[in-house]
Amino acid sequence: MSEVQQVTVLGATGSIGLSTLDVIARHPSLYQVFALTGFSRLDALAQLCIEHRPRFAVVPDAQAAASLQATLAEAGLTTRVLAGEGGLCEVSAHPEVDAVMAAIVGAAGLRPTLAAVEAGKKVLLANKEALVMSGALFMQAVKRHGAVLLPIDSEHNAIFQCLPGDYARGLQTVGVRRILLTASGGPFRQTPLGQLQAVTPEQACAHPVWSMGRKISVDSATMMNKGLELIEACWLFDARPEQVEVVIHPQSVIHSLVDYVDGSVLAQLGNPDMRTPIANALAWPTRIDSGVAPLDLFRIGQLNFEAPDEQRFPCLRLARQAAEAGGSAPAVLNAVNEVAVAAFLEGRIGYLDIAGMIESVLGQEPVVPVDDLEVVFAMDARARVLAGQWLERNGR
Ligand code: NAD
Ligand code: MG
Repeated sequence: MSEVQQVTVLGATGSIGLSTLDVIARHPSLYQVFALTGFSRLDALAQLCIEHRPRFAVVPDAQAAASLQATLAEAGLTTRVLAGEGGLCEVSAHPEVDAVMAAIVGAAGLRPTLAAVEAGKKVLLANKEALVMSGALFMQAVKRHGAVLLPIDSEHNAIFQCLPGDYARGLQTVGVRRILLTASGGPFRQTPLGQLQAVTPEQACAHPVWSMGRKISVDSATMMNKGLELIEACWLFDARPEQVEVVIHPQSVIHSLVDYVDGSVLAQLGNPDMRTPIANALAWPTRIDSGVAPLDLFRIGQLNFEAPDEQRFPCLRLARQAAEAGGSAPAVLNAVNEVAVAAFLEGRIGYLDIAGMIESVLGQEPVVPVDDLEVVFAMDARARVLAGQWLERNGR
């Protein structure tokens, strides 16, 4: 491609957003920042605008927009500041945009990500919650609008790299037996079970390998992250839940594997740094420098594997059940998990209550078919109400 690609970064102030801007800044002749969005830490967003000089910036509301607009004008920038979900959708679907990095955390990212899909963009998907909530509709929209969907989640990016280019013909057709989804096991892989209820948000967010936002860090500790990724893998690669096996691999050097019928197992390896999948997706099908150091196998020395323990990680079992139930179950799972993680981070519930709340609400909610987006949002809203009631009864 000869022209410079225009990139919108949704969730620019977050962990994935910042890694994306780091990769983009290494290749000014290939990529230009078209729009940056942020929800909090708006001073950080102002700094990023000054550095990357985007055409648009998006903040949560009109008041924040006026304030950022004034700051940027003072700095001599012509960046236009938009507000709210409408602004996010506008910079995702703008005709001049080539690629959209979907890196908002949680359900809040669904509409802006879908706006990019419906505008037929190259969509770099980090916001796994969007796909978990609306899987079938999301994938139909990708096909209908000719969007190019590239996974940023390191595991899915690894699987994507280990699959043949024509995998959309069907996993069985291209000779795939299983997908092996690796997981680090998080900070509590070896914590005595009796101590889990008392672990603090700070301990949960201190991931042994990856540095990430707080919500996904807690998800990694409970392994709900792997559960959401299992559902994500099913949609991205048209796999059945039983075709995806979770393997704990504490070093996080192998980012996932694909097992073929002839006994070949292909893996993608690399240092645990999200700039690798980001650069891979940005430049696909070519390769660019990501700034990640070369892998030093001699320093790593060993790669270990173990099976996940569902007693330790009940969220993984709940996510697998939701994947098998299909319909609205994954959207409900995701919504309650968001409420539970926020309550845990605020100190309102203990660590084990995260799974307790999810299991309780999933048990109360019937699974309904999801044939339009309004059903998804309605189920998401209902699940949040039920989760809120659970919290009233059981929270601090
Ligand atoms: P983060 O918390 O560091 O950043 C989240 C971004 O979303 C921030 O820019 C924030 O301002 C914005 N945001 C939050 N709430 C919003 C709202 N209501 N409306 C609009 N914007 C909002 O999170 P992260 O770690 O960068 O993760 C982002 C997404 O990428 C998540 O879906 C996560 O699961 C996924 N992901 C992250 C990693 C990682 O290494 N961090 C790896 C794989 C996947
Ligand atoms: Mg991941």
